[in-house]
Amino acid sequence: MLIQADTLTDYIRKIFVASGCSDAESARISGNLVDANLNGHDSHGVIRTPRYLQWLREEKLLPDRDLSTVSESGSLLILDGNYGFGQTVGPLAVERGIALTQELGVAVVALKHAGHLGRIGAFAEMAAERDQVSIHFVNVAGSVLVAPFGGTERRMSTAPVAIGVPVRNDAPIILDFATSLVAEGKILVAAKGGKPLPADSLVGPDGNTTGDPTLLYGDADPAVTPDQRRGPGAMTTMGAHKGSGLALMCELLAGALTGSGATGPDYPRVYNGMLSIYMSVDRFDTDDSFAAEIKRYVAYFKSSKPAAPDGEVLVPGEPEQRVRTERLGNGIPLANDAWAAIVKAGEQAGVHAAI
Ligand code: NAD
Repeated sequence: MLIQADTLTDYIRKIFVASGCSDAESARISGNLVDANLNGHDSHGVIRTPRYLQWLREEKLLPDRDLSTVSESGSLLILDGNYGFGQTVGPLAVERGIALTQELGVAVVALKHAGHLGRIGAFAEMAAERDQVSIHFVNVAGSVLVAPFGGTERRMSTAPVAIGVPVRNDAPIILDFATSLVAEGKILVAAKGGKPLPADSLVGPDGNTTGDPTLLYGDADPAVTPDQRRGPGAMTTMGAHKGSGLALMCELLAGALTGSGATGPDYPRVYNGMLSIYMSVDRFDTDDSFAAEIKRYVAYFKSSKPAAPDGEVLVPGEPEQRVRTERLGNGIPLANDAWAAIVKAGEQAGVHAAI
């Protein structure tokens, strides 16, 4: 089915209001989830609604929390998200990092104990809008899903990385990916009848790879929110040993260094840690060459002859911009099972879908 972004945003907002979040927070959550769908990242879109509501009921995710400052010294800021919604504490932390960078030129912000931060590229976009380069390492404490290179048992989270580079008078370049071969939400989408997975997304106890979501979720009814602890297998990393090493570094930087915690089996809740580095372009760009050099290099990069006859070389961020334009016009596609699970969760909260 296809739903217009505004209609979907309003429906999801009402569900979170009915579940105890303030109007402002509910608008942030629904706006952020629908924004992920608009960017083509359905794994981090409205499909997350039932799970967020479950965490809210279980008090694993807390409504309307503010950040607390653990310490602030020079260009280093350490913040605690107090298990509040990532859609609230995430942008607050990023705003603090951007403000410090406007003052000092560079800043490092450690954010611990943040509720699920969703699409990390949204934070790189916020910094790019203020003419700042940013790098974000993230881990997901309590979410042990991914096998290290050479292993079959889960030891790591899907640990995403995002890097944003602003381009004057043009869209920013935003690289934003999970270090697992696919984001966990993409397995959730596949389990609910959406796009099938690459054949090497998961590894079984026998060491063989497959694209079968039951290796992660077991045989759970996909109409009910699947439990990713039930499956006998593990997700694989992207880029073999390199992706595995990058995921390890996310656990160490975003988890251990921030004080949030590298992932493991004994966490009572699932939450994000994030280490962000911000750099103000104006402090680097003393001869005003950055924008022209980016444009020259991107044109050179994209001029590489496509591998496929009808192919095209894109820079990171371009696929999202294209999907966004298309979905703003035509609506957001949702798999039937995903929609059924959202409607069911909405009805539990007392909100009936008039769509
Ligand atoms: P993905 O595999 O779709 O990769 C996305 C990146 O690759 C983007 O930068 C995109 O612009 C670029 N890209 C895609 N196709 C391209 C092409 N043809 N040419 C050039 N560049 C291309 O993303 P993913 O790994 O599935 O991650 C999805 C989302 O999940 C991300 O937004 C990530 O932040 C989010 N995530 C969040 C958490 C969390 O705990 N909050 C955990 C994992 C992932």
